[in-house]
Amino acid sequence: MTLVLVSGINGFVAVEVLVSLLKRGYDVVGTIRSESKTAFLRNKFKAAVDSGKLKFAIVPDITATGAFDEVLKQYQFDFVLHTSSPFYLDAKDVEKELLDPAIKGTKSILESIEKLAPSVKHVVITSSFAAVGNHRIGAAPGHVYTEDEWCPAEWDESIANPYIGYLASKTWAERAAWDFVKDRKTRFTLTTLLPSMVFGPPEQEVESMAKLNQSSSDIYNLFNGSAGPVYGIWAWTDSRDLAEAHVLAIEKPEAKGQRYLIINGKHSPQYFANYIWKHYPERAAEKNVTKPTEKLYPDGGVYDVDNSRSIRDLGITYRGLDTMMRDTLKRFEELEAEGK
Ligand code: NDP
Repeated sequence: MTLVLVSGINGFVAVEVLVSLLKRGYDVVGTIRSESKTAFLRNKFKAAVDSGKLKFAIVPDITATGAFDEVLKQYQFDFVLHTSSPFYLDAKDVEKELLDPAIKGTKSILESIEKLAPSVKHVVITSSFAAVGNHRIGAAPGHVYTEDEWCPAEWDESIANPYIGYLASKTWAERAAWDFVKDRKTRFTLTTLLPSMVFGPPEQEVESMAKLNQSSSDIYNLFNGSAGPVYGIWAWTDSRDLAEAHVLAIEKPEAKGQRYLIINGKHSPQYFANYIWKHYPERAAEKNVTKPTEKLYPDGGVYDVDNSRSIRDLGITYRGLDTMMRDTLKRFEELEAEGK
């Protein structure tokens, strides 16, 4: 039996990670903020729950000192996947809502692993392209981002602007993790995964379409005609490929000590509108979806992201944009049919 702790198990990304782990035969304990939030997952993954392969642990506040102590004492984990971190762009208090949970949550789980869980061999943290991209150079045509770069966000701009606050939360949390491993010469090794905008069929609990996770809502709002394309980030990641990357990062020895950009490729939000018009013309007309146009990128083009390290070491085969759109819009329709 190989036991994996996944923090924030109810999140959009984490549920997909859970699917991948169970498929590969791992046993999983997922942390979640409250017992009531487990009901959906207990039902969706009933077979795994009934057979004891999936368990839950309540961690109400990841910023609290020792938040993960209990669960790490209770089980003998082999691996830890830390996914929980806030991702939304309208925070009112950036420090309290974004920076604290991201940074303190990361430090707290690492501290508890090192102190209490000698069985843990390897930790994977879901970081983000946010921790690499440079918001000051915008679309940066011709630039190719690599894992050697770090987002240059500074304190004042981060506190003043929730979007930059999110970039900072991921950057400083990831930096804190690498510093922790280096300074403490930890028993465990670390991999960080850096996806860009994560899209794919949302399999987490969706209370209503208005409460979809941030990245899914960027596509749904277009599908629903309630918003136009959201510009700014030009790279994307499929949630299923990201989930696979989490599993590969615990299985491949090459992943130890590495930072990986997990990037399917470039995308343009206008492309999503075009796709909706092509495949759902009646709905597009009825919902007044942003009109199709061939111009997908700003004049001069946009940056690229080098994902070759992830292909070389993890052997990921990335899905294409149309596959993601097909599966995602189908899931949106199912959720609408369920009255969400
Ligand atoms: P979700 O919002 O769907 O999930 C976030 C998870 O983190 C949930 O389990 C949530 O718990 C938990 N969480 C958030 N804030 C807190 C907090 N203050 N205290 C305790 N738990 C908290 O987001 P995603 O699944 O999209 O994101 C998962 C990870 O992937 C994050 O680390 C994010 O930064 C990263 N990422 C996501 C991208 C994307 O486009 N989706 C892009 C790049 C990186 P609860 O549901 O109870 O709030």
